[in-house]
Amino acid sequence: TKITEYFNQAKGKTLFSLEIIPPMKGSNFGDLMQNIEPLMEFNPPFIEVTYHREEYITKEVNGETKRIPIRKRPGTLGICAAIMQKFKVEAVPHVICGGFTKEETEDFLIDLHYLGIENILALRGDQEKGETHFIPKSGGHAFANELVEQISAMNQGKLLYEETESFPTNFCVGVAGYPEKHFEAISLEEDLQNLKRKVDAGADYIVTQMFFDNRKYFDFVDKCRAIGINVPIIPGLKPLSTARQLQILPEIFFLDIPEDLQKAVKACTAPEQIKQVGIEWTIAQGRELMQAGVPALHFYTMSKSDNVQAIAKSLF
Ligand code: FAD
Repeated sequence: TKITEYFNQAKGKTLFSLEIIPPMKGSNFGDLMQNIEPLMEFNPPFIEVTYHREEYITKEVNGETKRIPIRKRPGTLGICAAIMQKFKVEAVPHVICGGFTKEETEDFLIDLHYLGIENILALRGDQEKGETHFIPKSGGHAFANELVEQISAMNQGKLLYEETESFPTNFCVGVAGYPEKHFEAISLEEDLQNLKRKVDAGADYIVTQMFFDNRKYFDFVDKCRAIGINVPIIPGLKPLSTARQLQILPEIFFLDIPEDLQKAVKACTAPEQIKQVGIEWTIAQGRELMQAGVPALHFYTMSKSDNVQAIAKSLF
């Protein structure tokens, strides 16, 4: 079932959804499944699974220094299959441009179709470690809108080197949106025009980067609507859980953490208190977003569930 179909069926009721990250090098898969299990009580219609590009390590092989590609978090596809089997929910794999040729992407999309996957989050991906900016693989896509175009073309029967009357895929495509602007874009306005390219290429819904100030989300939605982006915009939420995140989240994701939240975290004297502050802040955010009628609250779980469970208990 398409994600957008779930939104239509919900008739204005806000749904609960989550994102998980494949474990490091295949470790603790059982823990991941155990962590998700308690969240099933809140009936997520879909679970998103991130995709991680290759990184490189240098290693001495027979006296020569070699650059060897490794994938630190493999298994996106396998985890999707396991989730669908065990929890009977839609698994939404993230598909990235970085590190793939268009031909490799086509093969990957066909594999997704064979597995019964109907929804995809289409992303560009970040630059490789050590690179100053994103460089596509030779013969690969440079921006997410090109990946969306490839998926839309496939849905219409157009493969890279073949046209058929009808090809059996009918993927529903999500894309990323940034209420506080993507870090490379010169302005939010320019970034929104690029977001529109993705929607014009066929994206069916948008999932936002995390934000801690709902005003940012509401303004973003208003600006999207003003330029003709009319698809559902799912707010992404992450409960803050450590003091260190006050520094690293803005560094990694280029976002602001409101003064009041910073103050509340800094006033804590124990880690458990910080977690509680994060839970309460996210509950307040969630409550206001639900009142505004958002289609879903999408939680970045970092593959842990206790704080998200506490939040969902209070909201759903
Ligand atoms: P794009 O939409 O291609 O945008 C990238 C930049 O280029 C923006 O500044 C945009 O304004 C500009 N731009 C876009 N199109 C054009 C164009 N045609 N011409 C000129 N400029 C253009 N990363 C992962 O590696 N794996 C994941 O699983 C993953 N999941 C994510 C999930 C969500 C919900 C979000 C918000 C991000 C996720 N990311 C993930 C991170 C994402 O890959 C990075 O933020 C990346 O830098 C941008 O990806 P994008 O798809 O938004 O890129």
